[in-house]
Amino acid sequence: MTPQSHLDGFLSAEHPLSPRGLFANLPAAIRPVVTPKLATVWEQDTAALPRALAHARRRYRGFAERELRDRSLAADLAPHPKPGEVLPSLAALLKTAGREGMLTDLLPRPLGSASLGSYRYPLVWTQALRSEELARVCGGQMLLLSAHSLGVIPIVFAGDLSAIRRFVVPAYRQTMAGDPHLFAYAITEPSAGSDAEEGHGASVSQPNVVAKRVSGGWSLQGRKIFISGGDIAKSITVFASLESEGIESWTCFLVTNDMPGFEVVRNELKMGMRASAASELAFHDVFVPDDHVIGSPRQGWAINRATLNASRYAVAGMAVGLAQGATEAAIDFACRTRLAGKSLMDFQEVQLQIANMMTETAAIRGMLWQAARKAYVARQDRSSMCKFQCTDEAVRVVEMALELMGNHGTLHESGVEKIYRDARLTQIFEGTNQINRLAVIEDQQEHFLARIERN
Ligand SMILES: Cc1cc2nc3c(=O)[nH]c(=O)nc-3n(C[C@H](O)[C@H](O)[C@H](O)COP(=O)(O)OP(=O)(O)OC[C@H]3O[C@@H](n4cnc5c(N)ncnc54)[C@H](O)[C@@H]3O)c2cc1C
Repeated sequence: MTPQSHLDGFLSAEHPLSPRGLFANLPAAIRPVVTPKLATVWEQDTAALPRALAHARRRYRGFAERELRDRSLAADLAPHPKPGEVLPSLAALLKTAGREGMLTDLLPRPLGSASLGSYRYPLVWTQALRSEELARVCGGQMLLLSAHSLGVIPIVFAGDLSAIRRFVVPAYRQTMAGDPHLFAYAITEPSAGSDAEEGHGASVSQPNVVAKRVSGGWSLQGRKIFISGGDIAKSITVFASLESEGIESWTCFLVTNDMPGFEVVRNELKMGMRASAASELAFHDVFVPDDHVIGSPRQGWAINRATLNASRYAVAGMAVGLAQGATEAAIDFACRTRLAGKSLMDFQEVQLQIANMMTETAAIRGMLWQAARKAYVARQDRSSMCKFQCTDEAVRVVEMALELMGNHGTLHESGVEKIYRDARLTQIFEGTNQINRLAVIEDQQEHFLARIERN
């Protein structure tokens, strides 16, 4: 079969009106200025990045294609493991990710795996690039790897060099040697989901996990829920209120899974990102020594907010990746499927839908990169805007892909059904999108207050 020279409704490259050959007759001096190189949107965007980040983006894509692609559907459909169990294929992934420096990039070499060049740009930008490329291939495995970084960030943002030296550096060494030492981040409680992310609710919330002063340290009592990777993490940054006080007394404790009284109660049966477990954790009078307090007592709320301000860029990146994955699956489907004697891609209605998906994805990526490129200090208003806009738009893009693929889109093997389930979670975690909208207003309220007219 001879290859098709053009899509229906368009001109072949040889036609004098085709943009593909259009500039060939212009003078040689001007041709390079007006003739774009043939490049996919991904290649164009990567080329526009600073060199160190372009290199990182290519590396993340290579890793995702090589290590996540083939495991994706099986890891999603496998029964949820019991607490502490990991599917053998995911255990192998974690080892490889550790050896390749994908779990240790919050610290520079030789302490971690980040190149010094990458520190010229905001950490949140690099993290957003990483979550985009991993989520494009598999949301669940992306969360398995990213939840670990979320668990380490509070230690870094506490500026607690002693804790970095004692907890993070040895764990990173172990991980880079192929024996992953994972972290998790625990703020959510049965009575505090949004309240753990939003000051107004937190101010009246009744804390569930409480730390009582005892000789030489603290005794933790209570439960945390929906903790990503909480079942397999060896170290967990746990936020607890001090006895008889509210969330304003929150303190960050480094709890290890071998401390007596620590229990992984269960893993939730959830709709998406199923390669990563969301675990309920119980603390039955867990003794945590004083030197496992991260930062100082009562600094926890500030450390938590700083962590979320940074990590919401990464969630926005996940959304961009999921939208990209859905768009690519729809294009692939449209090119492979024939209807009424021609390729689905030849129908202009389909072309319009695909152009919309590509553009919506490019728009949220552009918004994210624009905000992240100067985010040396992660601002709450910007990171929350990116979080809710990118995740809401990503779900719309995935719905377009599902619509375009018809009944095939509803099948596990299409991949888009999984992306839909994965994408829906990004609207909920790291603060629901309602809470993130309120976070924008909270950050800007000084400006509004100054303008409110009082009689
Ligand atoms: C897959 C997954 C992974 C997760 N991983 C982690 C993790 O690693 N660590 C961790 O600590 N937590 C984690 N979470 C928890 C997550 O961050 C919370 O689920 C989220 O913050 C929402 O809290 P909630 O579910 O308790 O909702 P609630 O706080 O009970 O809210 C219920 C509804 O009320 C709305 N609402 C609440 N307050 C307001 C308000 N003031 N104004 C308007 N609407 C409001 C919310 O938007 C929501 O629609 C995870 C959750 C999921 C689903």
